Amino acid sequence: MKNNHLIVFNELYNQLLNYPRDTLWNTYLKTIVSEQLRKIEYSDEAFEPEKLSRQQIYAKAKNIDEKNVDSQTAKNAVKTTKLKSTLEAFINDQPDCKKAFIELGYKPIIVTSASGGGSKNKTLLWMDIQVIENEAVEHIDETALVNTDDDIESVDDISSITYERKATSNIKPSLFTKLFFKQGELKVLSVRGVSLMLLLMAVFVSDILIAIYAFLVLLLLDDLPTVSLWQAILFSAMIPFAYISWRYFFMPLYLLPYHRVIKAPMFFANVNVDNADIEMYRDKDRLNVARVTEFTATCPICSGTIILAQGKPDQKPPLVGRCKEAPHAHVYSFDRMTMKGCFLGVPNYLSDKL
Ligand SMILES: [Zn+2]
Repeated sequence: MKNNHLIVFNELYNQLLNYPRDTLWNTYLKTIVSEQLRKIEYSDEAFEPEKLSRQQIYAKAKNIDEKNVDSQTAKNAVKTTKLKSTLEAFINDQPDCKKAFIELGYKPIIVTSASGGGSKNKTLLWMDIQVIENEAVEHIDETALVNTDDDIESVDDISSITYERKATSNIKPSLFTKLFFKQGELKVLSVRGVSLMLLLMAVFVSDILIAIYAFLVLLLLDDLPTVSLWQAILFSAMIPFAYISWRYFFMPLYLLPYHRVIKAPMFFANVNVDNADIEMYRDKDRLNVARVTEFTATCPICSGTIILAQGKPDQKPPLVGRCKEAPHAHVYSFDRMTMKGCFLGVPNYLSDKL
């Protein structure tokens, strides 16, 4: 029994480190699971959970002294229902993570000592594991229920979508990505990361130099008797080349830390894969990690595939979800944290559908 706990908690801990999201809820989860792991490490007997008060969780997550946290602050900050749903969503939203727990046959759950109201709000929280089999049956029942609901209220359904992140194991990296990314992942402060930075800077500088040089040659064409016509054509061709590498290679990568998700620029996507995105996380040392992935959703209007695309020219955000079948009509917003999107088209469009 103890081994199962150890394996499941270790798996969750690694998954949390592996998909770092910079939110308090994930930090709470990380705190709780690492305390369970610490307890297991120091005991040889059957699993005894390390029960934590809200203050302890809050203080550890914020890295402050427990004594400085008053119980009301902690109570408002650490909500058990939200913790449970965050854990649930964390596992279900990530195919890699979900698969790992299905293979183990167990998944971690949050347990609380619902000590009843009033009594000094000393609710204790810890983690336990649950067999997945029952859950699968329950899940089927739930989806069956949801399906019957869908028939009744399809308007709500069309107005929002849920994105899926492609499993890392299903991503086929391009040769260029393999050069810099290790298993689809790049730590910005590593040898590969720094060399990609240097390459980016080289592209940046050479783009400018090429543009200036070509421009000067064209300006001074009359005064340079040695330049023949084909040389002039060659030089003028360099300007669009510099522009393209600037626009489609340098700028997207430059914007990645600010936008967090970008379309994979040229060379990063595999030639035979038509869609790839790059997402940036912050890892446990708060360093940036870039990862090749793909966000998709099913279009609720026509059941086509929704992929991320540029928001221009009709939308304000740089990235939106566009249906492959009707890219300018079936447009949804994109939120990488909630993995949700809502319809961005004309409101009447939806009511006309009914
Ligand atoms: Zn569609």
